[in-house]
Amino acid sequence: MDEFQFIQHYLVNKQTWPDTFLELGIGDDAAILRMNSEQALCISADMLQEGVHFFATDLPQDIAYKAVAVNFSDMAAMGVRPRWLLLTLALPVLEKVWLDAFFDSFYSLLEKYRVKLIGGDTTRGTCTISITVMGENGTKGGLRRDQAVVEDDIWVTGRVGLAAAALSHHYQQVHLSSEVFNLCEKARLRPPIRIEFMARAAPWIHAAQDISDGLLQDLEHILVASGVGARILVEEIPSLRELEEYTFYQHWLLNGGDDYECIFTASPIYRMQLEALAKELAVPLHLVGKITSTQGYSLFNKGRSISSFCKKGFNHFGNPIAPT
Ligand code: ADP
Ligand code: MG
Repeated sequence: MDEFQFIQHYLVNKQTWPDTFLELGIGDDAAILRMNSEQALCISADMLQEGVHFFATDLPQDIAYKAVAVNFSDMAAMGVRPRWLLLTLALPVLEKVWLDAFFDSFYSLLEKYRVKLIGGDTTRGTCTISITVMGENGTKGGLRRDQAVVEDDIWVTGRVGLAAAALSHHYQQVHLSSEVFNLCEKARLRPPIRIEFMARAAPWIHAAQDISDGLLQDLEHILVASGVGARILVEEIPSLRELEEYTFYQHWLLNGGDDYECIFTASPIYRMQLEALAKELAVPLHLVGKITSTQGYSLFNKGRSISSFCKKGFNHFGNPIAPT
């Protein structure tokens, strides 16, 4: 059984009694609890574990940054600004130097985004950082995966494939030059935070999701939830030019994971607004395809169909090698 079969079998639709607060439950980047017609809470949790999501040798300040950023990424995908956070820690020892560096980084990121730590739990164990993040989003609730519309544009923020390339270098599958490795390693350790862009772009967006497990796999969540398909122009997907020469390139780009960029769909009538906002906030934004009525996706690279490309996004309990 893989991760998604597990979620489907044991978690989705197991509790069917009516809950007037629950606007959106398991199956999206976050749940939405509607308090009243003007207030909705958006809540999600993400966990990082040593040896799975980061190396024991990674710096505590980077681990803290990443733990917060991956949680912010789910809020960004909902178009919601985070406000509160719960921190559940398992640590093998309480070592002051490590903890000082971890919490300096942790609090400076929370300070920057005005997010308050409101609770959590601490236990001894393999270094594991589990965060529950909450945001409040008024009348809107949040962006969902199931609202893509045929003829929508498909957009991707930032650049993808870099973190996966850094991991391939760590696993000695490739050797990147130190300059390229540094860029990729930064993407792995300090994922981008797209909250401001997604919160302001939300009124123009139909469906959204963050790219945590590989672009194709995460796009597929939008397609399945919305009952639509997609036509993707692979050469339009933003990455790092220096990575293109590697045989792993398409794999990093389409399956890589750990990107924490956002993929979203919007009506073509909002192209100008989206591009202007991206420019204002200095967020790279690329139009990579269209939503189609034919289900599934077709991939084109420079006019050639490459739909036979093997999708293999990240799946805990699925892949032999964990791309973090
Ligand atoms: P994401 O990549 O956005 O973090 P996941 O793919 O990890 O989302 O999870 C898919 C859905 O399953 C989410 O709605 C998530 O809340 C839910 N989920 C995953 N694991 C659990 C769990 N152990 N208990 C309850 N819900 C879970
Ligand atoms: Mg997500």
